[in-house]
Amino acid sequence: MEIMPNRMDRGFFKYQNEFEAKALEVLRSGWYVLGKEVKSFEEEFAAFTGAKYCVSLASGLDALWIAFRILGIGAGDEVIVQGNTYIASIMGITINGATPVFVEPDESFGIDTEKIEEKITSRTKAVLVVHLYGMASRMDKIVQICQKHNLRLVEDCAQAHGACFEGKMTGTFGDVGCFSFYPSKNLGAFGDAGAVVVNDEQLAKDFRIFRNYGSEKRYYNKTVGANSRLDEIQAGLLRVRLSHIQELTEEKNMIAARYSTEIQNSKFSLPLLVKGATCVWHQYVIRCHKRDDLMNYLNEKGIGTIIHYPIPPHLSEAYQYLGYKHGSLPITENFADTVLSMPMYNGMKTEEQSYVIDALNSF
Ligand SMILES: *Cc1c(COP(=O)(O)O)cnc(C)c1O
Repeated sequence: MEIMPNRMDRGFFKYQNEFEAKALEVLRSGWYVLGKEVKSFEEEFAAFTGAKYCVSLASGLDALWIAFRILGIGAGDEVIVQGNTYIASIMGITINGATPVFVEPDESFGIDTEKIEEKITSRTKAVLVVHLYGMASRMDKIVQICQKHNLRLVEDCAQAHGACFEGKMTGTFGDVGCFSFYPSKNLGAFGDAGAVVVNDEQLAKDFRIFRNYGSEKRYYNKTVGANSRLDEIQAGLLRVRLSHIQELTEEKNMIAARYSTEIQNSKFSLPLLVKGATCVWHQYVIRCHKRDDLMNYLNEKGIGTIIHYPIPPHLSEAYQYLGYKHGSLPITENFADTVLSMPMYNGMKTEEQSYVIDALNSF
Protein backbone atom coordinates (compact mmCIF):
# COMPACT_ATOMS: atom_id res chain seq x y z
CA MET A 1 0.00 0.00 0.00
CA GLU A 2 1.23 3.52 -0.81
CA ILE A 3 0.41 6.12 1.80
CA MET A 4 1.30 9.75 1.33
CA PRO A 5 2.23 11.81 4.38
CA ASN A 6 -0.56 14.21 3.51
CA ARG A 7 -3.00 14.51 0.65
CA MET A 8 -5.23 17.38 -0.22
CA ASP A 9 -7.27 15.69 -2.98
CA ARG A 10 -9.32 13.69 -0.46
CA GLY A 11 -10.33 16.88 1.34
CA PHE A 12 -11.37 18.41 -1.95
CA PHE A 13 -13.43 15.46 -3.21
CA LYS A 14 -15.25 15.23 0.10
CA TYR A 15 -17.07 18.47 -0.75
CA GLN A 16 -16.39 18.65 -4.49
CA ASN A 17 -19.84 19.88 -5.52
CA GLU A 18 -19.86 22.69 -3.00
CA PHE A 19 -16.35 23.84 -3.90
CA GLU A 20 -17.06 23.77 -7.62
CA ALA A 21 -20.37 25.61 -7.27
CA LYS A 22 -18.73 28.33 -5.17
CA ALA A 23 -15.79 28.73 -7.57
CA LEU A 24 -18.19 29.15 -10.50
CA GLU A 25 -20.30 31.60 -8.54
CA VAL A 26 -17.27 33.80 -7.83
CA LEU A 27 -15.92 33.51 -11.38
CA ARG A 28 -19.26 34.61 -12.77
CA SER A 29 -19.72 37.43 -10.26
CA GLY A 30 -17.27 39.78 -11.96
CA TRP A 31 -15.75 40.83 -8.58
CA TYR A 32 -12.45 39.24 -7.55
CA VAL A 33 -10.72 41.15 -4.75
CA LEU A 34 -12.09 42.53 -1.45
CA GLY A 35 -15.76 41.85 -2.01
CA LYS A 36 -18.65 40.10 -0.34
CA GLU A 37 -16.99 36.68 -0.01
CA VAL A 38 -14.08 38.24 1.90
CA LYS A 39 -16.45 40.20 4.12
CA SER A 40 -18.56 37.11 4.89
CA PHE A 41 -15.53 34.93 5.48
CA GLU A 42 -14.09 37.47 7.92
CA GLU A 43 -17.37 37.59 9.86
CA GLU A 44 -17.69 33.81 9.92
CA PHE A 45 -14.09 33.18 10.91
CA ALA A 46 -14.21 35.81 13.68
CA ALA A 47 -17.37 34.12 14.99
CA PHE A 48 -15.69 30.71 14.80
CA THR A 49 -12.76 31.86 16.94
CA GLY A 50 -14.79 34.00 19.30
CA ALA A 51 -12.76 37.11 18.43
CA LYS A 52 -14.49 40.39 17.58
CA TYR A 53 -12.73 41.00 14.25
CA CYS A 54 -10.99 39.05 11.55
CA VAL A 55 -8.96 40.72 8.81
CA SER A 56 -8.01 38.41 5.96
CA LEU A 57 -4.57 38.68 4.40
CA ALA A 58 -2.57 36.99 1.65
CA SER A 59 -0.63 34.48 3.81
CA GLY A 60 0.27 33.33 7.29
CA LEU A 61 3.69 34.95 7.06
CA ASP A 62 2.02 38.26 6.18
CA ALA A 63 -0.22 37.89 9.23
CA LEU A 64 2.87 37.53 11.43
CA TRP A 65 5.09 40.29 10.07
CA ILE A 66 2.26 42.76 9.61
CA ALA A 67 1.18 42.06 13.21
CA PHE A 68 4.62 42.96 14.58
CA ARG A 69 4.82 45.96 12.24
CA ILE A 70 1.47 47.32 13.42
CA LEU A 71 2.35 46.68 17.07
CA GLY A 72 5.45 48.83 16.49
CA ILE A 73 7.97 46.06 17.22
CA GLY A 74 11.15 46.40 15.17
CA ALA A 75 14.87 47.19 15.32
CA GLY A 76 16.27 47.04 18.86
CA ASP A 77 13.31 45.05 20.18
CA GLU A 78 13.30 41.43 21.30
CA VAL A 79 10.53 38.88 20.88
CA ILE A 80 10.49 35.67 22.93
CA VAL A 81 9.61 32.58 20.91
CA GLN A 82 10.10 28.83 21.13
CA GLY A 83 13.12 27.35 19.34
CA ASN A 84 11.21 24.49 17.69
CA THR A 85 8.95 26.23 15.24
CA TYR A 86 8.53 26.58 11.52
CA ILE A 87 10.92 29.22 10.26
CA ALA A 88 8.06 31.48 9.11
CA SER A 89 7.30 32.29 12.77
CA ILE A 90 10.82 33.67 13.10
CA MET A 91 10.72 35.53 9.80
CA GLY A 92 7.59 37.29 11.02
CA ILE A 93 9.80 38.79 13.73
CA THR A 94 13.01 39.45 11.80
CA ILE A 95 11.43 41.00 8.68
CA ASN A 96 10.76 43.99 10.93
CA GLY A 97 14.34 44.06 12.25
CA ALA A 98 13.41 42.72 15.69
CA THR A 99 15.46 39.94 17.34
CA PRO A 100 14.02 36.54 18.23
CA VAL A 101 15.04 35.24 21.66
CA PHE A 102 14.64 31.48 21.74
CA VAL A 103 13.17 29.45 24.58
CA GLU A 104 13.30 25.65 24.74
CA PRO A 105 10.08 23.66 24.27
CA ASP A 106 8.40 21.46 26.88
CA GLU A 107 7.38 17.81 26.44
CA SER A 108 4.27 18.85 24.49
CA PHE A 109 6.26 20.74 21.84
CA GLY A 110 5.05 24.13 23.15
CA ILE A 111 7.16 26.91 24.69
CA ASP A 112 8.41 25.88 28.16
CA THR A 113 6.62 28.41 30.34
CA GLU A 114 9.10 27.88 33.20
CA LYS A 115 11.87 29.25 31.00
CA ILE A 116 10.26 32.43 29.65
CA GLU A 117 10.91 34.88 32.48
CA GLU A 118 14.68 34.29 32.59
CA LYS A 119 14.83 35.55 28.98
CA ILE A 120 13.02 38.84 29.60
CA THR A 121 15.23 41.95 29.29
CA SER A 122 14.56 45.68 29.04
CA ARG A 123 14.32 45.20 25.26
CA THR A 124 11.67 42.47 25.36
CA LYS A 125 8.48 43.71 23.73
CA ALA A 126 6.46 40.59 23.04
CA VAL A 127 5.99 36.85 23.31
CA LEU A 128 5.14 34.89 20.16
CA VAL A 129 3.51 31.60 21.08
CA VAL A 130 3.21 28.90 18.42
CA HIS A 131 0.52 26.27 18.84
CA LEU A 132 2.66 23.72 17.07
CA TYR A 133 1.19 20.63 15.36
CA GLY A 134 -2.30 21.75 16.40
CA MET A 135 -1.76 21.60 20.16
CA ALA A 136 -2.81 24.57 22.25
CA SER A 137 -0.01 25.89 24.48
CA ARG A 138 -0.21 26.57 28.22
CA MET A 139 -2.04 29.86 27.76
CA ASP A 140 -2.90 30.57 31.43
CA LYS A 141 0.78 30.84 32.34
CA ILE A 142 1.74 32.72 29.20
CA VAL A 143 -1.00 35.33 29.60
CA GLN A 144 0.04 35.79 33.24
CA ILE A 145 3.69 36.39 32.31
CA CYS A 146 2.77 38.86 29.56
CA GLN A 147 0.52 40.83 31.90
CA LYS A 148 3.09 40.88 34.69
CA HIS A 149 5.85 42.19 32.41
CA ASN A 150 3.64 44.34 30.19
CA LEU A 151 4.48 42.42 27.02
CA ARG A 152 2.48 42.09 23.83
CA LEU A 153 1.20 38.61 23.08
CA VAL A 154 0.99 37.33 19.51
CA GLU A 155 -0.20 33.81 18.68
CA ASP A 156 0.92 31.83 15.65
CA CYS A 157 -2.15 29.67 14.98
CA ALA A 158 -1.13 28.54 11.50
CA GLN A 159 -1.42 24.91 12.63
CA ALA A 160 -4.13 25.26 15.24
CA HIS A 161 -7.50 26.35 13.76
CA GLY A 162 -9.99 25.50 16.47
CA ALA A 163 -7.62 24.27 19.18
CA CYS A 164 -8.62 25.49 22.64
CA PHE A 165 -7.05 26.04 26.02
CA GLU A 166 -9.57 25.70 28.85
CA GLY A 167 -12.41 26.20 26.39
CA LYS A 168 -11.09 29.41 24.84
CA MET A 169 -9.87 29.32 21.28
CA THR A 170 -6.25 29.85 20.36
CA GLY A 171 -5.74 33.20 18.68
CA THR A 172 -7.94 35.06 21.16
CA PHE A 173 -5.66 35.16 24.23
CA GLY A 174 -3.42 38.05 23.27
CA ASP A 175 -3.22 41.08 21.01
CA VAL A 176 -3.23 39.31 17.65
CA GLY A 177 -3.95 35.75 16.51
CA CYS A 178 -2.22 34.93 13.21
CA PHE A 179 -3.58 32.26 10.87
CA SER A 180 -2.45 30.63 7.64
CA PHE A 181 -4.85 28.96 5.24
CA TYR A 182 -2.15 27.39 3.08
CA PRO A 183 -3.71 24.33 1.38
CA SER A 184 -2.17 21.77 3.76
CA LYS A 185 -3.32 23.53 6.96
CA ASN A 186 -6.36 22.33 8.89
CA LEU A 187 -8.43 25.08 7.30
CA GLY A 188 -6.89 25.19 3.85
CA ALA A 189 -7.60 27.34 0.82
CA PHE A 190 -6.66 26.40 -2.76
CA GLY A 191 -3.63 28.64 -2.82
CA ASP A 192 -2.04 31.06 -0.35
CA ALA A 193 -4.22 32.78 2.23
CA GLY A 194 -4.04 34.04 5.81
CA ALA A 195 -5.75 36.21 8.42
CA VAL A 196 -5.49 37.84 11.80
CA VAL A 197 -8.10 37.91 14.54
CA VAL A 198 -8.19 40.76 17.07
CA ASN A 199 -10.55 42.18 19.65
CA ASP A 200 -9.44 45.79 19.36
CA GLU A 201 -11.37 47.83 16.81
CA GLN A 202 -8.53 50.24 16.05
CA LEU A 203 -6.11 47.37 15.54
CA ALA A 204 -8.54 45.73 13.09
CA LYS A 205 -8.76 49.02 11.20
CA ASP A 206 -4.97 49.31 11.08
CA PHE A 207 -4.71 45.86 9.50
CA ARG A 208 -7.41 46.69 6.95
CA ILE A 209 -5.58 49.85 5.91
CA PHE A 210 -2.14 48.23 5.87
CA ARG A 211 -3.14 45.29 3.65
CA ASN A 212 -4.36 47.64 0.94
CA TYR A 213 -1.30 49.86 0.36
CA GLY A 214 -1.96 51.80 3.54
CA SER A 215 -5.07 53.33 2.08
CA GLU A 216 -8.49 53.65 3.59
CA LYS A 217 -9.90 55.77 0.83
CA ARG A 218 -8.85 54.93 -2.71
CA TYR A 219 -5.68 56.79 -3.78
CA TYR A 220 -5.29 58.50 -0.38
CA ASN A 221 -2.47 56.67 1.39
CA LYS A 222 -1.93 57.12 5.12
CA THR A 223 1.11 54.89 5.52
CA VAL A 224 3.40 52.70 3.46
CA GLY A 225 1.51 49.43 3.55
CA ALA A 226 1.54 46.21 1.59
CA ASN A 227 -0.57 44.38 -0.92
CA SER A 228 -1.81 41.54 1.24
CA ARG A 229 -5.39 40.96 0.22
CA LEU A 230 -7.30 37.69 0.16
CA ASP A 231 -8.85 36.80 -3.21
CA GLU A 232 -12.63 36.50 -3.43
CA ILE A 233 -12.33 32.99 -4.84
CA GLN A 234 -10.16 31.84 -1.92
CA ALA A 235 -12.50 33.49 0.60
CA GLY A 236 -15.48 31.75 -0.99
CA LEU A 237 -13.76 28.35 -0.94
CA LEU A 238 -12.63 28.93 2.65
CA ARG A 239 -16.26 29.61 3.61
CA VAL A 240 -17.20 26.19 2.24
CA ARG A 241 -14.38 24.52 4.17
CA LEU A 242 -15.14 26.50 7.35
CA SER A 243 -18.76 25.31 7.25
CA HIS A 244 -17.40 21.75 7.64
CA ILE A 245 -14.54 22.45 10.03
CA GLN A 246 -16.14 20.64 12.94
CA GLU A 247 -16.49 17.33 11.12
CA LEU A 248 -13.04 17.75 9.56
CA THR A 249 -11.50 18.22 13.00
CA GLU A 250 -13.52 15.34 14.47
CA GLU A 251 -12.23 13.08 11.72
CA LYS A 252 -8.62 14.00 12.58
CA ASN A 253 -9.37 13.49 16.26
CA MET A 254 -10.57 9.99 15.50
CA ILE A 255 -7.45 9.10 13.54
CA ALA A 256 -5.27 10.50 16.35
CA ALA A 257 -7.24 8.55 18.96
CA ARG A 258 -6.65 5.34 17.01
CA TYR A 259 -2.96 6.08 16.68
CA SER A 260 -2.65 6.87 20.39
CA THR A 261 -4.38 3.71 21.56
CA GLU A 262 -3.21 1.23 18.93
CA ILE A 263 0.40 2.24 18.40
CA GLN A 264 2.37 0.30 20.97
CA ASN A 265 6.11 0.23 20.61
CA SER A 266 8.58 1.17 23.32
CA LYS A 267 10.99 2.46 20.66
CA PHE A 268 9.07 5.71 20.37
CA SER A 269 7.03 8.19 22.36
CA LEU A 270 3.63 9.40 21.30
CA PRO A 271 2.38 13.01 21.48
CA LEU A 272 1.47 14.31 24.91
CA LEU A 273 -1.16 17.02 25.42
CA VAL A 274 -0.90 19.86 27.90
CA LYS A 275 -3.52 19.73 30.67
CA GLY A 276 -6.54 21.84 29.70
CA ALA A 277 -5.55 21.94 26.03
CA THR A 278 -7.15 20.43 22.97
CA CYS A 279 -5.36 19.49 19.77
CA VAL A 280 -6.65 19.67 16.20
CA TRP A 281 -3.92 17.32 14.95
CA HIS A 282 -2.34 19.32 12.20
CA GLN A 283 0.40 16.72 12.58
CA TYR A 284 0.69 13.53 14.59
CA VAL A 285 4.30 13.69 15.71
CA ILE A 286 6.13 10.84 17.39
CA ARG A 287 9.68 10.89 18.72
CA CYS A 288 12.18 8.11 18.10
CA HIS A 289 15.92 7.93 18.80
CA LYS A 290 16.34 5.80 15.69
CA ARG A 291 14.27 8.25 13.67
CA ASP A 292 16.16 7.98 10.41
CA ASP A 293 16.01 4.16 10.52
CA LEU A 294 12.30 4.36 11.24
CA MET A 295 11.77 6.75 8.36
CA ASN A 296 13.59 4.44 5.93
CA TYR A 297 11.74 1.40 7.23
CA LEU A 298 8.36 3.08 6.74
CA ASN A 299 9.43 4.32 3.35
CA GLU A 300 10.22 0.77 2.24
CA LYS A 301 6.68 -0.17 3.19
CA GLY A 302 5.31 2.67 1.06
CA ILE A 303 4.51 4.94 4.01
CA GLY A 304 5.58 8.54 3.51
CA THR A 305 6.52 10.59 6.56
CA ILE A 306 7.88 14.12 7.03
CA ILE A 307 10.20 15.69 9.60
CA HIS A 308 8.72 18.88 11.04
CA TYR A 309 11.39 20.32 11.13
CA PRO A 310 14.86 18.94 10.46
CA ILE A 311 16.77 22.22 10.99
CA PRO A 312 15.66 24.47 13.83
CA PRO A 313 15.57 28.17 12.86
CA HIS A 314 18.55 29.12 15.08
CA LEU A 315 20.77 26.72 13.08
CA SER A 316 19.38 27.68 9.70
CA GLU A 317 21.73 29.35 7.24
CA ALA A 318 19.31 32.28 7.09
CA TYR A 319 19.90 32.99 10.79
CA GLN A 320 23.64 32.51 11.05
CA TYR A 321 23.86 36.22 11.82
CA LEU A 322 22.16 35.63 15.17
CA GLY A 323 25.28 33.74 16.27
CA TYR A 324 23.81 30.50 17.61
CA LYS A 325 25.75 27.23 17.42
CA HIS A 326 25.04 23.52 17.69
CA GLY A 327 24.35 22.93 21.37
CA SER A 328 22.82 26.39 21.99
CA LEU A 329 19.35 24.88 22.38
CA PRO A 330 19.83 21.19 23.20
CA ILE A 331 16.16 20.26 23.65
CA THR A 332 15.11 22.00 20.44
CA GLU A 333 17.98 20.30 18.60
CA ASN A 334 17.09 16.92 20.08
CA PHE A 335 13.51 17.34 18.83
CA ALA A 336 14.82 18.14 15.35
CA ASP A 337 16.78 14.87 15.44
CA THR A 338 13.96 12.67 16.79
CA VAL A 339 10.56 13.94 15.55
CA LEU A 340 8.63 12.27 12.75
CA SER A 341 5.14 13.12 11.51
CA MET A 342 2.87 10.21 10.66
CA PRO A 343 0.43 10.31 7.74
CA MET A 344 -2.65 12.23 8.89
CA TYR A 345 -5.23 13.78 6.58
CA ASN A 346 -8.94 14.13 6.07
CA GLY A 347 -10.31 11.25 4.07
CA MET A 348 -7.66 8.82 5.34
CA LYS A 349 -9.20 5.36 4.99
CA THR A 350 -9.48 2.94 7.92
CA GLU A 351 -7.27 0.41 6.07
CA GLU A 352 -4.64 3.09 5.55
CA GLN A 353 -4.65 3.92 9.25
CA SER A 354 -4.37 0.22 10.16
CA TYR A 355 -1.49 -0.24 7.73
CA VAL A 356 0.45 2.62 9.38
CA ILE A 357 -0.31 1.29 12.88
CA ASP A 358 0.79 -2.27 12.01
CA ALA A 359 3.97 -1.04 10.39
CA LEU A 360 4.85 1.06 13.45
CA ASN A 361 4.13 -1.77 15.84
CA SER A 362 6.38 -4.16 13.98
CA PHE A 363 9.36 -1.78 13.79
C1 LIG B 1 2.46 27.53 7.66
C2 LIG B 1 3.00 28.25 8.80
C3 LIG B 1 3.28 29.63 8.74
C4 LIG B 1 3.27 30.41 7.48
O1 LIG B 1 2.08 30.43 6.80
P1 LIG B 1 2.08 30.70 5.20
O2 LIG B 1 0.64 30.89 4.89
O3 LIG B 1 2.71 29.55 4.55
O4 LIG B 1 2.85 31.97 4.98
C5 LIG B 1 3.69 30.25 9.92
N1 LIG B 1 3.84 29.58 11.06
C6 LIG B 1 3.59 28.26 11.15
C7 LIG B 1 3.74 27.59 12.48
C8 LIG B 1 3.18 27.55 10.03
O5 LIG B 1 2.94 26.24 10.12
